[in-house]
Amino acid sequence: MTIIPNSMEGRDIAYQMHPNVNLRKYEKTGGVVIESGDGIYVFDNNGKRYIEGLAGLWSVAVGFGEKRLVEVARAQMEKLPYYHTFAYKTHGPSIELAEMLIQMAPVPMSKVHFTSSGSEANDLACKMVWYRSNALGNKDKKKVIGRIKGYHGVTIAAGSITGLPRNHESFDLPLDRMVHTSCPSYVHFGQENESEADFTTRMLTDLEDLIIREGPETVAAFWGEPVMGAGGVLMPPEGYWEGVQKILRKYDILLVVDEVICGFGRTGNMFACQTYGIEPDVLILSKQISSSYMPLSAILMNDRFYQPIADESDRIGVFGHGFTASGHPVATAVGLENLKIIQERDLVGNAARLEEQFLSRLAELAKHPVAHSSRGVGLLGALEIKPFDDAKAGDAALTVTAALEKEGVIARAVGEAICFCPPLIITSEQIDDMFDALERALDAVA
Ligand code: PLP
Repeated sequence: MTIIPNSMEGRDIAYQMHPNVNLRKYEKTGGVVIESGDGIYVFDNNGKRYIEGLAGLWSVAVGFGEKRLVEVARAQMEKLPYYHTFAYKTHGPSIELAEMLIQMAPVPMSKVHFTSSGSEANDLACKMVWYRSNALGNKDKKKVIGRIKGYHGVTIAAGSITGLPRNHESFDLPLDRMVHTSCPSYVHFGQENESEADFTTRMLTDLEDLIIREGPETVAAFWGEPVMGAGGVLMPPEGYWEGVQKILRKYDILLVVDEVICGFGRTGNMFACQTYGIEPDVLILSKQISSSYMPLSAILMNDRFYQPIADESDRIGVFGHGFTASGHPVATAVGLENLKIIQERDLVGNAARLEEQFLSRLAELAKHPVAHSSRGVGLLGALEIKPFDDAKAGDAALTVTAALEKEGVIARAVGEAICFCPPLIITSEQIDDMFDALERALDAVA
C-alpha cells in the first residue's frame, strides 16, 4: 500500500510511536485511522464501517455512542474539571463511585483505591502487598505468583506478574520476586489421554510444588484473571479456582483477582468471581468500569488486606503513593454513570441471554476446515485456527483477522486464536452479522 506523506496515515507514521506493534513494520504499513463510533460500530477515515468485535480493547461495554456519558463528562468538566484526592481533599464523584463499587462487589470489600489503568492498578496492588507484609513484620513474604500467559499490564511490577514473553523480553522483566506457575488452559496444555479433571489436578500440583519450592513463608500473593483474556481467552478447567483457593488458604497466601476484562458483565454475571466461585482479597477493575470513555481503574480490598496497610501508614505518617489523576472527577463521574447504564439496561442479563447463541455460533464455526476448536463464556470467546501449512505460529489467526477486517469486523488474533469480546449492548442479529462475516473470512482463506 502506498502511503501519502501528508495523509493522516503518513503523519501518523511520521510522528507517533505506537504501543504493541513491530515498530519497523509499522513504519512501512501504518495503521487504520478510526474516526468515529456509534453503537457496536466504528468507522475509518474512508467511511468503512466495522463491527468492533473486541469492544476496542475488551472495554466499551455500552458501545461507542453513549450520549449520557458525554453529557456527564461535559457537566463534570463545567462544575469541577479536575481535583485531586491527596492531602486530606476529596470530591463527590470519587466518593459516589467508591460507595457504589463496595455495594456491587462480589464479596465483602472494605475500601476502593482509584488509579487510571489496569497496569497501574495491578502495579499498586503489588506494592500494597509488599507494604502489608512489612506492616505485619513478614519482611521475607514478598514473592508473587503469576501464571504463564497471564496478563496484568506492562508497568514494572504488573509487567513482571504478566506471563507473556513479549512483555518481558528486552525490558529486563520479570523482577526476581515474581514467579510463574503453569497456564491452566486444557486445550493448549492438556496431555494426550489426560482428562480435564486430571489436568486440573496437575495444575494444582504444579502450583503447590512451586509454593513449596519457593518456601511458603516467602510467598505473599497469587495473581490471576478468572478467564485469561490477552493470553487468548483461556478458560479455567473444571474445579481449578476451588482448588487454587484451597491451596492459598493452606499457605496463607493472598488472592488478587484481576477482572480488568471479566468485570461488569462480561461472563454473564456482574463479576466473574460469581461465575467461578472466587473470593478474592483484592479485586482489580478497569476497562468496562467506564467503558473506557475515560481512563479509570480501581483496586477493591477486603478488611484483612486494608487494615495492616492503614496501620503502617499511621506508623510511617503517610501512605506514600498516589497519582495526580487518582480518582479524577471526570473519570469517576463517567464511571458512575456507565455503571448505572449497565444496571438500568441490564447489560449483564443481555450477556447471559446471548451467551448460548454466541458460543454455539462459535462452536459451529469450529467445524470449518481451517478451524480447530472454540471456547468462551458470556460474551467472551475465541475460535482456535489450525496452523496453515508451513506458516509460523500465529500467522494463521492473523491471516483470518485480516480477511475478517475486509468483511467489516475487527477481532484480535492471539497465537492461533481469534478473540471476540463485543460491546455488551450487542443484539442477537448483530452477533449473527459478526459471525456470518467470520464464516466468509474463513472461506476466503481456506
Ligand atoms: N489486566 C488485564 C486482565 C488486562 O486485560 C489488561 C489490559 O488488557 C490490563 C490488566 C492492563 O490494563 P491497561 O492496558 O489499562 O494498563
